[in-house]
Amino acid sequence: MHELSIAQSVIRSVLEEMERRRLSSVKKIHLRIGPWSGVMADAVQFNFTVLCVDTPLRDVRLIIEEPPPQGQCTQCSHTFPIQAMSLVCPQCGCESVRLQGGDELEIAFLETGE
Ligand SMILES: [Zn+2]
Repeated sequence: MHELSIAQSVIRSVLEEMERRRLSSVKKIHLRIGPWSGVMADAVQFNFTVLCVDTPLRDVRLIIEEPPPQGQCTQCSHTFPIQAMSLVCPQCGCESVRLQGGDELEIAFLETGE
């Protein structure tokens, strides 16, 4: 039920944000979920839709972005998006790569109608 509580906390945060910024409506919520966060985007989307029915967010679209993780080479500091599971620096061929990102779970931004 991990995704259910994530959907609940997204709704709570957005409602708080609307209150704080005195927004009457929000059109879209952009949520960022990294591929290694262990969170299933589809399940968050589904729970969000179900939970929103009785809230001011029922017409809001939840847009889930899944940013690709990045790797940084420890030898030449080259930063590159990681494809598949190959952890080799494309610039120098070094196999010592530090992973960056991929475990994000955050509200990126809200689109309002104004
Ligand atoms: Zn390198």
